[in-house]
Amino acid sequence: ESRALLEEQRRVDSSAVAYPEDLPIAFQEGKGATVRDVDGNTFIDMFAGIGVLNVGHANPYVLEAVHAQADKLVHTVDFPSEARLELIEALDGIAPGDLRGNNRVVFGGPTGSDAVEASIKLAKYNTGGTGLIAFRGAYHGATSGAMSLTGNRGFKGRYAPLLSDVVHAPYPNPIEMDKGPREAVDHALEEVQAILEDPYGGLANPAGIFVEPIQGEGGVVVPPEGFLRGLRDLADDNDVPLVFDEIQSGLGRSGRWWACEWYDVTPDVMTSAKALGGIGFPLSATIYREDLDTWGAGDHAGTYRGHVVAMRAGTRAIEYVREHDLLAHAREVGSYVRTRLEEAAEGTPRVVDVRGRGLFVGAEFVDADGAPDDGAADAVQDYCFERGVLVWKAGRHGNVLRLLPPLVLTQELAEAAMDVVVDAVESVTA
Ligand code: PMP
Repeated sequence: ESRALLEEQRRVDSSAVAYPEDLPIAFQEGKGATVRDVDGNTFIDMFAGIGVLNVGHANPYVLEAVHAQADKLVHTVDFPSEARLELIEALDGIAPGDLRGNNRVVFGGPTGSDAVEASIKLAKYNTGGTGLIAFRGAYHGATSGAMSLTGNRGFKGRYAPLLSDVVHAPYPNPIEMDKGPREAVDHALEEVQAILEDPYGGLANPAGIFVEPIQGEGGVVVPPEGFLRGLRDLADDNDVPLVFDEIQSGLGRSGRWWACEWYDVTPDVMTSAKALGGIGFPLSATIYREDLDTWGAGDHAGTYRGHVVAMRAGTRAIEYVREHDLLAHAREVGSYVRTRLEEAAEGTPRVVDVRGRGLFVGAEFVDADGAPDDGAADAVQDYCFERGVLVWKAGRHGNVLRLLPPLVLTQELAEAAMDVVVDAVESVTA
């Protein structure tokens, strides 16, 4: 039945849809960290709708509020609502560092890309600048501005011209750079400094630095200590906002509310989406320092900024994470997941790195000659799928196995899933 649905959909759907050819699955029902397909197969979900379902599929605590709200009202644009005030307050309660008690929130449309667009506009509006600094391997979205910041040609090659005043600096991935962590950070920061300050080669009129505190699509790249701090200093020295894209890394995914908290560095502007809508409702937000709130009414607009069902779901999800201490849980189970992968990696030169924080974990594959091996990551994904575990991929070369399960993944399910993942790694790299 899954295959039939896929076939039928392929006939009528856009050719832009990237159907997972080797994963003929049509979801029918989800609960916590498991999903069932229309054929009755049950899977352990280690990808959570690309890091969306942090509190699990059909979380009953969230659903209760969703039903109650949906029965009353769904859409309000920007008109006042309790649901909106509640979520603004909940976000303030978990805002990092000195953003707490000192921020404004602008809700975006349904996608993360919307929040990124808002952050670009906010940075330009406040600085009067035009130049944007982003990073290689970054992914920020599919709209034109967000695509301009995206540092992977694969996503934007055919859409030029995009924003012209964007420069990409290296993101400190020691493995890729073949450098030690300190050297990788120094190299990346020197490049950013040159872009900001070199009067001949730099950006004429910088407006902001945009960075994922942990790169997601780029391959779960966890920057070494010192990188975000260095960016903070460069942003301050040059009077430009530092913007963290926490769309994938935020809301508990990394075992902290925000990945930037691992580094004790606070941005001026931060984007959120994905898990923000609680259990998959589309919602995004840009959270920024209060003194950057210089917009006049209507300077940034949007129809879907008042989706009160999504907002109720978002607030409830934040409460659920807090009440069930899912941050600590994500750190614990995440550490188990990483350890299992590290043990598997010890047995083969084909897994060159295992990395991550919390339940945001990646393993990078190379071939016998040390070149990026997307085929190996594909094969691991297929092997897992056939045995009932859904895993995802990432990386500039598509060669990183990416695990981002719901944070409610139990230790028992984690063990069952990792038995399969480890078998997959061993079998593919044998
Ligand atoms: N930023 C980051 C860090 C992301 O991971 C993504 C989505 N993968 C986006 C932005 C874009 O979000 P959306 O696909 O919801 O537009």
